[in-house]
Amino acid sequence: MSGKAPITLLIAILLGALAGLLCGYFFGEQMLAVAWIGRMFLDILKMLILPLIIAAVITGVGALGKTGKIARVGGLTVLYYSCTTGLAVLLGLVLVNLIQPGSGLEHGAATLPEQIRDRETSSVLDIITQLVSPNLVQAAANLHILPLIVFTVLFGIALNSVGTRARTVFDFFEGLNEVMMKLVTWAMYLAPIGIFSLIAARIGEAGGGEAFYNEIKAVGWYCSTVLLGLTIHFGILLFLLLLWSPQGRAYVLSMGRALVTAFGTASSAATLPVTMKCALEAGVEPKAVRFVLPIGVTMNMDGTALYEAVAVMFIAQAMQIPLGAGEQLIIFITATLAAIGAAGIPQAGLVTMLIVLSAVNLPAEGIGLLLAVDWFLDRFRTTVNVWGDSVGAAIMARFIPGEQAPGVVSPAPQSHKLSS
Ligand code: ASP
Repeated sequence: MSGKAPITLLIAILLGALAGLLCGYFFGEQMLAVAWIGRMFLDILKMLILPLIIAAVITGVGALGKTGKIARVGGLTVLYYSCTTGLAVLLGLVLVNLIQPGSGLEHGAATLPEQIRDRETSSVLDIITQLVSPNLVQAAANLHILPLIVFTVLFGIALNSVGTRARTVFDFFEGLNEVMMKLVTWAMYLAPIGIFSLIAARIGEAGGGEAFYNEIKAVGWYCSTVLLGLTIHFGILLFLLLLWSPQGRAYVLSMGRALVTAFGTASSAATLPVTMKCALEAGVEPKAVRFVLPIGVTMNMDGTALYEAVAVMFIAQAMQIPLGAGEQLIIFITATLAAIGAAGIPQAGLVTMLIVLSAVNLPAEGIGLLLAVDWFLDRFRTTVNVWGDSVGAAIMARFIPGEQAPGVVSPAPQSHKLSS
């Protein structure tokens, strides 16, 4: 995509999102009739995930070369993303203590929502065991990307250590990556109508504008606290970090299509193909796009982390259970881990929040207090998650020497290694 095409598409997607909001608001449940279009769009994006991640990460790791360099960039990426996630939790905790959204809230006997009732066993150990999967295809189909990343990183390292004898394998994945990017370009042309239907149908499912407004109003201070935190993290913290990258402020425009797709799909994993495409077009070093972004989508969820901290404190305040500094420190640590462990799928944060709740002995039923508005906040936090991933890739590119041309692959090296 070149010239004015990305900006025209961004405008079309924004108009689609706006039309979806208005149609969902005014026509309510009637908009469920278009839900299938949104589902198909989402399925098309999901369809791209498995081959795209395999090709991108293998070639990204392969092009990085020496195992020491891969470990250094990987380690820096994990450190950077952990720090921004920690900052997001801290911001959430400060705001929720200042605003106290749960104080004085009338709440009936909350019940544990059905969708998470069978997931009560979620724990930090679950996050570790999710590193591997017996079935990569199934994991990818469920948008559980972590085992796929582990496999492809190891594959890339092995490819490098085999050296020139594996050159054709590397070239094959380079070609596959280019082909996948072409498919992503085509899929993005469907985004305006896809995002329109996703948003319109979801508001329709919530019963249309008025019903939805009343639900938000009931926990208005909670929603405002989460949204304020997300806005500060997106617009101030991440923007300040962005100044440290070659992309600068214009990057937000370049990533616009990915951000609106994140808002429409509520899934950072499904958005990954679009995120990669936009980052490449913005001139982010291809090796960073291929290696850093998939790691980001798996472990970096600033929006989710912030939301989990606010939500848990909100539940404690509403249930009049005071939490001191020690307990808030536990929330800080567990919310950071829970966000790292959350899959990039709609409302995954709601499930991993159980880890945080049980760490400070709060009843899981507390989730019932915020369930009605969760799908709405999910879209905003997913957008922040994707923005956080994108800023991370732009910054990490500083530590990865290489060509700047978008989509350009490293030339075949002559040495016994695949790349220098
Ligand atoms: N929907 C979020 C994402 O895909 C995860 C969550 O917060 O529920 O990034």
